[in-house]
Amino acid sequence: MACMSHRGCMMGHGKLAIGLAVALVASVAAAGEFFGVLPAATFDAAAPTIDKTLGFGWGEEITDPDQVLKFSQALAAGVPARVRLLEYGHSMEGRPLVLLVLGSPANLPRWDDLQNRLARLGDPRLVNASQAEAAIRELPAVVWIQCSVHGDEASGGDAGLALAYYLAAGSGPEIAQVLDNAFVVIDPMENPDGRARFVGSTRRARGLRPDPDPSSAEHVQPWPGGRVSHELFDLNRDWFALTHPETVGRVNAMLRYHPMVVADLHEMGAEMGYFFAPPAEPRHPLLTGEETTLLDVLGRANAAAFDAHGFRYWTRELFDEFYPGYGESWPAFTGAIGMTFEQASSRGLVVALRDGSQLTYGETVQHHLLAAFTTCLTTASNRARFLHAWYSFRQSAVAEGQKGPVHAYVIGEGKETMQAAELAELLARQGIEAFRVAEGREGIATGAFVVPLDQPLGRLARALLERGASMGPAFEKEQERRDAKRLPDEIYDITAWSLPLLFGAPARPLQALPRGLVMEPVKPGSLPAGSVAGDGKVAFLLPWEGGASARALARLLREGVKVSVASKPFTLAGRQYERGTIVIRRAGNGDNLQERLAEAARETGASFVGTDTGYVDRGIDLGSTNVFPLKAPRIALAWDTPTAAFSAGDLWYALELYFGYPVSVVRTSTLARAELSRFDVIILPDSWERGGSYAAVLGEEGVKRLASWVGEGGVLVAVGGGAGMLTGEKVGWLASKLENRLGSEVPPEKGKPAGPAEAKPPAERAFDYDSAVRPSEEDPAAVPGAILRVELDAESCLAAGFPGGSVDVLVGSRRIFTPLKLDKGTNVGIYAASDKLVQSGFLLKASREQLPNKAYLMLQPLRRGKVVAFADDPATRGFTRASMLLLANAVFFGPAY
Ligand SMILES: [Zn+2]
Repeated sequence: MACMSHRGCMMGHGKLAIGLAVALVASVAAAGEFFGVLPAATFDAAAPTIDKTLGFGWGEEITDPDQVLKFSQALAAGVPARVRLLEYGHSMEGRPLVLLVLGSPANLPRWDDLQNRLARLGDPRLVNASQAEAAIRELPAVVWIQCSVHGDEASGGDAGLALAYYLAAGSGPEIAQVLDNAFVVIDPMENPDGRARFVGSTRRARGLRPDPDPSSAEHVQPWPGGRVSHELFDLNRDWFALTHPETVGRVNAMLRYHPMVVADLHEMGAEMGYFFAPPAEPRHPLLTGEETTLLDVLGRANAAAFDAHGFRYWTRELFDEFYPGYGESWPAFTGAIGMTFEQASSRGLVVALRDGSQLTYGETVQHHLLAAFTTCLTTASNRARFLHAWYSFRQSAVAEGQKGPVHAYVIGEGKETMQAAELAELLARQGIEAFRVAEGREGIATGAFVVPLDQPLGRLARALLERGASMGPAFEKEQERRDAKRLPDEIYDITAWSLPLLFGAPARPLQALPRGLVMEPVKPGSLPAGSVAGDGKVAFLLPWEGGASARALARLLREGVKVSVASKPFTLAGRQYERGTIVIRRAGNGDNLQERLAEAARETGASFVGTDTGYVDRGIDLGSTNVFPLKAPRIALAWDTPTAAFSAGDLWYALELYFGYPVSVVRTSTLARAELSRFDVIILPDSWERGGSYAAVLGEEGVKRLASWVGEGGVLVAVGGGAGMLTGEKVGWLASKLENRLGSEVPPEKGKPAGPAEAKPPAERAFDYDSAVRPSEEDPAAVPGAILRVELDAESCLAAGFPGGSVDVLVGSRRIFTPLKLDKGTNVGIYAASDKLVQSGFLLKASREQLPNKAYLMLQPLRRGKVVAFADDPATRGFTRASMLLLANAVFFGPAY
């Protein structure tokens, strides 16, 4: 096989033999055979082939990001009549993100013009019914195939390239049918940074031959694995949060290029076969009607194609469409038919299966190729139907906004203007029309934000702004039944994401907008600049009110400006300042302080207020000993095993990218021997286990050193499993306890009336089955990602920034911490009483009973230092903006007092 020498070149001459073995395993991928799963075609010999471009055949090697890019460029350059390459952004590590657009030689030159016409059809406010029908008769459909958002689910990417080649270089009636009736947009690698990590680790571990043993190192990735982004985020949850340049670029592209069908290509466990639409229950209740029918059309077409080859597949049992931030569900809210395709992973070039057979990478690529092409052909063959469904979804969204129970949301009517501005801007970035009120009317304040729902993306706006969506009473009841039997729940992702709650910017539904309201559109990328008021002859004050204030503080600390924090409230010049207000004195801060603050205000959106005196009307004076100087903390974030990559990534993102403050990421094993005195704050992210694994990685010596560092004044911030480690008997720096499930510590017989057995009638002595089978020492029930209310201790500096005395947090774990005794420390935040606990989402009855009044955020002194413990990740997915301020409090204020 010709690929031998090519692979030798790629891998280095010392490993020529590998190429031979690869070729033997991957023989399925011989060029003609490989495309044998698709309708027969003849190929243009002049078109660039993968062999000529990369030196191996289809599916014989897992392409790395450079190779994906190289082949994409070669194809676009080689077949310009059918292929166009569009760059839509760069990954966090700077790798280009591209789209391959395929169309007929007649349609492709008209790409821009046809997209403009699709844009017009997509706004039903601009076209009448007959114009729409005329457009639907003429316009091509757009099918979007996006690949490998999880970087270690690599086969999608190679299938995307193979599909592009087949459509670009192939000739045959089915190819003509696709290209004449549709544009096919292929995003061959949604997560190049993760792909690079995965391909690197699997190639590095390869020996003389690809090892099919699933436990061999080429199948088992080192922490954090290739699934996640550079920042350790799951990009398949980021579509409305837009924390990453990858997602931002994709959402922009999708808003410009109007897909009617979107297939997102993934991988799952090696034994699992193939999954395609229809999806599992529950679907988001706003995704209904014609979409369901078309999912069935596509599902049946894929089933027929797989049946024809005898390929195994299944549908509906897993992978739901409830959370709007997936790569399949976000597009669905724009009117596209969104689908997840999942291929069993070989996680390497070949893997042995339990039945004795082997699954090659080439086969996994072929299956994805078949499903992707079948999706293109089905859409093209039903072009008008798919266009009509897309148009009517957007039209009915407008109509629902006009006539439905909610016409608009108003956000930011109280003090939360900056948080509301961030929320409105986030909506604008994903194509939702949002407005700032320039002149208020009838109770709608000037400066508030309004989001009308009578717009093409009105349903998306509603899904993000409403308090919550129901998974349906039958589904919820089933989860209770399963919990009673201790079966795992069927909830695939989180059950709540209401952005007004998570941003701390309450939204109010309106039935109508008052006449005469003057509004200006919110532009993506533009947040209101802050301000500096007054001369500040003595000092400037920065009220502690949200992300903008924390970004400003981070900036000032970075620049070496001397700042303090008021640990008690005061009133000055008639204005009330809450605890947490930052005080920046003129004295000691140089001549250009005002200019620096103006710059910080412009950059961060924070507002400073100057004062000409330190003498207040009420409360503490600015020179009080209750105003503590802040130092720029040197922060270490524990990294690598045993931290949960997502949690490490969330905290990293929050501190560096959201607040703009640098941290040192230090491997946990290194923490055990590093010079800790260089750090003021050490953060232990969540871990998968209760926390025992932290103690194991740190070792006895490491734990001891960490203890002495805290004792000498360090601030240890621990999250979830990190906090769990501190409660253990071995460590014991946190006088809290990880609870077992309610009732599981009570022996089944306890509490029953004792007495001589013969005194009871036989029926009462009957065996109590329910008690007998109830597990003992059991973890609490799982909280499946719900938004819960936490009541804060207003006297604690760690609760600064929440004058209302509470915060809504996203919780998703089985951990419940008992509150600290009064002599041990402070319970800065505890879960609210049961009537206020659940703000959004689903919570099992068992959790509703056990969670109230349990600790969410604890502060415990340890000699001269302190431990700050979060029961759950305060920075989940980078969108829990309100609770992220608690993290800022911990790292900036924690060391100060
Ligand atoms: Zn995936």
